[in-house]
Amino acid sequence: MGENHTKKFRFKKKDWLLIGIIVVVAGAAFLFHELIGGEGAGVISVKVDGVLEGTYTLSKDQEISINGGTNILIIKDGKADMEEADCPDQLCVHQKAISKNHESIICLPHKVVVEVESAESGKLDGISN
Ligand SMILES: [Zn+2]
Repeated sequence: MGENHTKKFRFKKKDWLLIGIIVVVAGAAFLFHELIGGEGAGVISVKVDGVLEGTYTLSKDQEISINGGTNILIIKDGKADMEEADCPDQLCVHQKAISKNHESIICLPHKVVVEVESAESGKLDGISN
């Protein structure tokens, strides 16, 4: 009589607990990877003429006006891309979106450098000059 029941319910409480733990750990690892370790998970720094204008996270979609609006940077889907610029060469606009550590977009005419930094924030030692 009881045989059918035991066959149906193969998972015991302990197993579900184990599965729960695995799911949580996997989810946390995935999140951690997305937010910190993975592609498009960094922080970008924006420098104008060697002076840090700001740092921005790639995990939040946003539009950044650089150098008083000469360059418009878009952060979308974990990537930073120079959307618009009023420089004559437009080279920065044509550079591909950046998302990995130490990739950069440079606008020579405006001396704008956008670079992907490591995920750790508060890296401020570049300012002193
Ligand atoms: Zn440019």
